[in-house]
Amino acid sequence: MISLIPLEKWFLATKRSFPWRIHPTPYMVLVSEIMLQQTQADRVIEYFSRWMKRYPTIETLAKASEEEVMKLWEGLGYYSRARSLLKAARYIVHELEGVIPDTEEELLKVPGIGPYTAGAILSFAFQKRAAAVDANVLRVLSRMFMYDKNVDVLSSRQELTNRLLQILPKKDPHIAMEGLIELGALVCKKVPVCALCPLQESCKAFQNDATAEYPKKKAPDKRTNLFRLVFVLELDGKFLVVKRPTGAIMAGLYEFPFVELESEMDEARLMSHVHKLVPSSSVRPLPKAQHSFTRYFAKLYPFHITVSKDINYFDGVWKSREELVDLAFSSGHKRITGFLGV
Ligand code: SF4
Repeated sequence: MISLIPLEKWFLATKRSFPWRIHPTPYMVLVSEIMLQQTQADRVIEYFSRWMKRYPTIETLAKASEEEVMKLWEGLGYYSRARSLLKAARYIVHELEGVIPDTEEELLKVPGIGPYTAGAILSFAFQKRAAAVDANVLRVLSRMFMYDKNVDVLSSRQELTNRLLQILPKKDPHIAMEGLIELGALVCKKVPVCALCPLQESCKAFQNDATAEYPKKKAPDKRTNLFRLVFVLELDGKFLVVKRPTGAIMAGLYEFPFVELESEMDEARLMSHVHKLVPSSSVRPLPKAQHSFTRYFAKLYPFHITVSKDINYFDGVWKSREELVDLAFSSGHKRITGFLGV
């Protein structure tokens, strides 16, 4: 018989991975759960605190511009989350008089709120019997039930969500739900620490000595390497930057103009490329930078090039050092601004 009752005591005695995990407001859950998608809790805590200082209410967030929001999100990655949060705030303020709904049906109508965030808001903020199934919870459930299907498939997530709803206790279901999330983050990790787990008796994988076989997954996508020659063009103390277009990965973020290279190159060949593409007598290599996003890993080869006339064939805008400070950059290009002393 699978039971989550032992989780409650364990959870209430545990140091939480995310500090508000008792009595948050719906707005706090909305912000933090969107930040926690794809990002570890210890990184999110700092961003969450800054966010709540700048936008303490959903109304203050709804009034913010996309540029301001992206700047505050800078460094957290997966920037579409920032835009989703802003869209959700504006919808809630303009269409729902600023009140975050307390039913799944209404929450799922809010742009940017999917089943996980809806479940989290219902459970943590409204203390309802709702399931919030993230990757950590999926891992725990797949082991507890010895679930033999690929957990990355939507139908598997739905099936495990239904099974979870059947075993969530009627009294204080939010505590068991939060306990399950914490258990996945702190104990039932990729390599589970079963000796510390309060659910050993309920866990079929533990009972059958099969924890290493779960969760079942498909083979991971192969990572694609990118090599980019980056032009840090300076004209009269201003630098050329390009905003990533709507619909592109990292849309709305700024980068220095670049061209894709077919492969890695040594400095002499890179320098020869630069001279072919941009006429200038003042070219200086900057330290290499790198960043990863979705399934890409990009190596950046930046060159600082001083030009004497506007050669803006990259369709960018010229910005002073002071103006660069206020722009949100993708993480690799943010490192390049550091090489310029910005
Ligand atoms: S007993 Fe081990 S595998 Fe099972 S839920 Fe606990 S930590 Fe995970």
